[in-house]
Amino acid sequence: MSSYKLVCPHCASWMRIRTSDGKHIFLRVAYLQCTNEACCWAARAKFEMPHEMSPSGMPNPSVRLPAAPTALRREAMHQ
Ligand SMILES: [Zn+2]
Repeated sequence: MSSYKLVCPHCASWMRIRTSDGKHIFLRVAYLQCTNEACCWAARAKFEMPHEMSPSGMPNPSVRLPAAPTALRREAMHQ
């Protein structure tokens, strides 16, 4: 379901998203679990969309996010 590649800080295995909860259209809280059965570390994470990096080709008028600062957009282009 997800293309996130989250790595367990303990054993460096992939973490999977067990469940996630939409707090807001720009914020989700997710519960992550390490896929390594010997480790099984679990954590709570937040996915937030604080800035718009590039405008939508199909903009929804109710969606208003501040544009990212120029320095941040420049940095993202180099990744
Ligand atoms: Zn782990």
